[in-house]
Amino acid sequence: MSKIFLKIFIGFLILIVALTTLFIVFSYYSVREQYLETLTNHLKNLNYLLKSKIVQDVENKNYSVLDYYIKKLGKNIEARITVILPDGLVIADSERDPSKMENHGTRTEIVQAINNGFGSSLRYSHTIHEDMLYVALPIMKEGKIIAVSRVSMHTKDIDKLYSQLRNSIVTIAILLTLLSLIGILLFSLSFTKPIKSLVESSKRISSGDFDTKLFLKRNDELKVLADSFNEMTTKLSASFKEIKEQKEELSQLIAGLQEGLIVIDKLGKITLSNKSFERIIGKANILGVDYWTVLQDTKVAKLIKQLKSQFRSITKEIRVDDGYFLCSGSYIEPKEEIILIFYNITDRKNLELVKKDFISNASHELRTPLTSIKGYVETLQTEIDEKHKPFLDIIEKNTDRIIRIVEDLTILSELEEKKQEPEFQEVNLIDISKNIIKIFEQSASAKGLILQFNYDENLPPIKADSFKIEQLLINLIDNAIKYTNEGTIQLNITNEVEEGSQPSPKDNVNNNIIIEISDTGIGIPKEHQSRIFERFYTVDKSRSKKLGGTGLGLSIVKHIVQLHNGEIKVESELGKGTRFIVLLPVS
Ligand code: ADP
Repeated sequence: MSKIFLKIFIGFLILIVALTTLFIVFSYYSVREQYLETLTNHLKNLNYLLKSKIVQDVENKNYSVLDYYIKKLGKNIEARITVILPDGLVIADSERDPSKMENHGTRTEIVQAINNGFGSSLRYSHTIHEDMLYVALPIMKEGKIIAVSRVSMHTKDIDKLYSQLRNSIVTIAILLTLLSLIGILLFSLSFTKPIKSLVESSKRISSGDFDTKLFLKRNDELKVLADSFNEMTTKLSASFKEIKEQKEELSQLIAGLQEGLIVIDKLGKITLSNKSFERIIGKANILGVDYWTVLQDTKVAKLIKQLKSQFRSITKEIRVDDGYFLCSGSYIEPKEEIILIFYNITDRKNLELVKKDFISNASHELRTPLTSIKGYVETLQTEIDEKHKPFLDIIEKNTDRIIRIVEDLTILSELEEKKQEPEFQEVNLIDISKNIIKIFEQSASAKGLILQFNYDENLPPIKADSFKIEQLLINLIDNAIKYTNEGTIQLNITNEVEEGSQPSPKDNVNNNIIIEISDTGIGIPKEHQSRIFERFYTVDKSRSKKLGGTGLGLSIVKHIVQLHNGEIKVESELGKGTRFIVLLPVS
């Protein structure tokens, strides 16, 4: 039996039993009151009927005649009649000898009759030893009370009537209660049955059966509820189907991805992976496994740590066995999960290596023949006639240019060879810079340019490759002079100590040496600024060529900066000048 049914049924049961009891008690007492009132009136009327006879006999003091009359009348009307004088002396009684009766002057009904003109009392009679209802009236003559008549009745007759009345009331009440209970039973059932069906259907839905429907043959709010329920199950079923399809689609998509993919939960366990990833690491069935057990790469561990603290996408190049991969990670905030996607860049990387090898080999091989050509050209310069000299000058100029390119390419190849841990020495930047300024003083003044060097006196020494730092400064100052026609070239070296006091591109660096090379030259157009660090990239090819540029200078600078874990930025305005900012970490 359902709980709700029991609740409704027991609730109504208590209510009906309480109401029925109230009904019985109330009707019993109100009928009793009504009956007593009727009986009192009846006894009052009897008193009235006796009035003239009593007046007559009391006036004549015919007490024995009156007693005889009263005894006869009392027998006939089955009521007790008593006549009392105002002083309480009983002069006639239908059931006892008045001379043997005690004084009645203190009886409640007698006192009330004398004082109020009417008296009644329901009490136990010590004279006849029964419960009696007494009704008394004063008998008046010329405005004076000459006697009191009292008519009384046994209450046992009333009680008999009461018990009959009570039986009828109780029978009716029980019948009504039974009928109500049947009604409540039917009502409760009609109410709880659909609720029970609703509960069962809800349970079926929660266990995954979305095709459950609820049909009710009624026309009330429960029917509306059932219709809404059916509508909800239809929508749920459709949504669930759609989600299932989308999930399958996504699973197939992930499974079919060329790129390796894994999802790692906040504890570092793999919660999702695809075949491509399993191929990369050469292991299968890795769900639930700690990622570190299948991919022991410190770069990946560092990337995961960064993702958790920076909440942005980060990409790093990693090596797994013989392959090169771009590992791109994103943080999924609500579930604190991390998605890692592994793009295979082995072919591209190998091609790059072949290219680098080729450049390195070619520049190496070209060096000797070029030196020999240069030597012969210089020898010929002294012997050639004036007519052919311009041709030899062109050959010399171009040979010089090829030599510069080969030299720059050799430097670049060396830089790209990336030794795992470059050996750095403690370097005094001020001394290096002063020497380089000296080298450029002449070429700057030849162009009418002012060359300035400003620096912080107590600059901390940094660990660096002094030859490469020289190279960096030479390339940047050389460019500044090359691309400036008038004004000032400035080299500033300062120390950035406070975190955030200068725009720092690296979050974890808070102590940088800042090298700034600024000029008042031709400037670099905005659209070219992002590309000037590429190999052989020049803004104006003919101008660069004329000035002896190779298009490799900034590329070398960038590599040197990267080798020192630094950053390089350019700020430039066309026609106003350019500023290169190099940040080198102190530690
Ligand atoms: P290049 O040998 O041609 O100077 P770089 O790699 O050193 O090659 O520089 C690339 C290009 O960037 C240059 O061709 C030039 O257009 C531009 N550039 C570099 N430095 C400056 C500068 N200080 N002022 C204006 N343009 C510059």
